[in-house]
Amino acid sequence: MKYIIGNWKMNLGIRESVALARGVIRITRGKEGLPEIIICPAFTALSEVKKTLAHSRVSLGAQNCGVEKSGAFTGEISAGMLLDAECKYALVGHSERRHIFGESNEIVRKRLEAMSKTKLIPVLCVGEPKSERDAGNEENYVTDQLKSALDGLSLNKKKPLFIAYEPVWAIGAKEPASIAEMINLQAFIRLVAKKITDLPDTSIKILYGGSVDSENAYSFLREGEVDGVLVGGASLSINKFEGIIKAASDVIVAQQ
Ligand code: PEP
Repeated sequence: MKYIIGNWKMNLGIRESVALARGVIRITRGKEGLPEIIICPAFTALSEVKKTLAHSRVSLGAQNCGVEKSGAFTGEISAGMLLDAECKYALVGHSERRHIFGESNEIVRKRLEAMSKTKLIPVLCVGEPKSERDAGNEENYVTDQLKSALDGLSLNKKKPLFIAYEPVWAIGAKEPASIAEMINLQAFIRLVAKKITDLPDTSIKILYGGSVDSENAYSFLREGEVDGVLVGGASLSINKFEGIIKAASDVIVAQQ
């Protein structure tokens, strides 16, 4: 199975989100060999988008998950609230949260802990900034992120753990990571995550994210053992998103 996650970030009002969700459903109608498609709208649109997705093959995800269950935590949305809005997945540790809003490894860990006690499926985002890549330190950097997030965390072996390798320098950039870089890092991340978590192989899903579009999606998806892609900018264009879904379906058919 391949997974395509669309991260809509802080874009689209409720009506526009519903319209885009309808477009995504249209793409999937009557198609065989589809990847699992997950869309992550802004919090304000979750509820209406969920109604739109009813009886479709598209799943709902959130862009972050609060640490506490409830209380005086202004601006936070708890795991319970996300489940109440019928989210199946939630991103955690996205590089924009880490680098623009200062979310530390410790906060990311707490968010994951909160999710691990629920049915929400986490999509842990990791990836090195350009300075670390230039210094050849990407593996150490990502290992720290993974250890801090996952070491000693009690995980349900039956629930998948998604880890998105998203090099910071490739997000919203002109160029994605090269296929070779992606293959190396995703294999490395799978190895480290397996050691730390002791989850069965099939429970760990590794995605690539960073300037994936309809032109390059096929190359990323067919290579290595990558389980899917996390898509930002291109998920806001129905034509580009359709191209990415088609690329995933082509890979699924080719690998059957
Ligand atoms: C992202 O936001 O996770 C992302 C990968 O963005 P983009 O596809 O625009 O690089």
